Amino acid sequence: MSETSSSGIGNSRVIGATSGRIPWIPLAIMGVVVAVYMWRTDFEPRWPLILGIVLLCVQSCLRMPFAHRAKGVTVAHNSADTVDIALMYAVFITMVVLPLLRLATPLLDGFDYVLPPYIAAIGVVVMIFGLWLFYRSHADLGKQWSASLQIGEDHRLVTQGVYSRIRHPMYSAIWLMALAHPLLFQNWIAGPPIVLAWAMLYFRRLPHEEAMMVARFGTDYERYRERAGALWPK
Ligand code: SAH
Repeated sequence: MSETSSSGIGNSRVIGATSGRIPWIPLAIMGVVVAVYMWRTDFEPRWPLILGIVLLCVQSCLRMPFAHRAKGVTVAHNSADTVDIALMYAVFITMVVLPLLRLATPLLDGFDYVLPPYIAAIGVVVMIFGLWLFYRSHADLGKQWSASLQIGEDHRLVTQGVYSRIRHPMYSAIWLMALAHPLLFQNWIAGPPIVLAWAMLYFRRLPHEEAMMVARFGTDYERYRERAGALWPK
């Protein structure tokens, strides 16, 4: 069964697709923020925060080449709606904007908490594993990627690589990165809120995404759903 109509908000391009392969502007902003933070702390920073920003830079560098490849894809079906897009903004603000605000300004300094270094080290390990899975899922999903819920014109069902045993490995990766975030940023405003924002996006999106996949791929997707787990292997 193939869908060619569009529902949800009108969009003929892939949401999140970029014209460049390297995130120069985000990297420049993060570089300036780290420099301001170093100056603000007299070069005695809290290192987990710096590591957190470096890992955010890695995350953005890993996604961008794939977001660029999706630029040429024509959207055949669109299930993205305003609530999904609003929750994506909430994820962006809690994952990127608030940590940058914590480093660059004194506004959030009063909301800090301090964790032992070994907890921050666990955060780094979880984050690196999350980044590996994030990269692998982008590589396996290829041109079927969209930042929201869309089906491209030549969309095929991906069931190989990390998708062979997990249906949503990219979301597993984002869960890992979201859970590592409060261990690195150690601030009540810039840390834990990402877990809530991501949980809201994930739990609302999942049924919509799977309904969209069933509408497009029918029993192929249903059979795949029976053998592969949602966030980790069955
Ligand atoms: N939920 C997946 C993909 C996230 S990207 C994951 O976590 O890895 C979102 C887009 O991926 C959706 O618009 C949908 O079109 C596409 N998609 C999700 N699962 C897919 C699959 N198994 N094969 C092909 N495309 C898929």
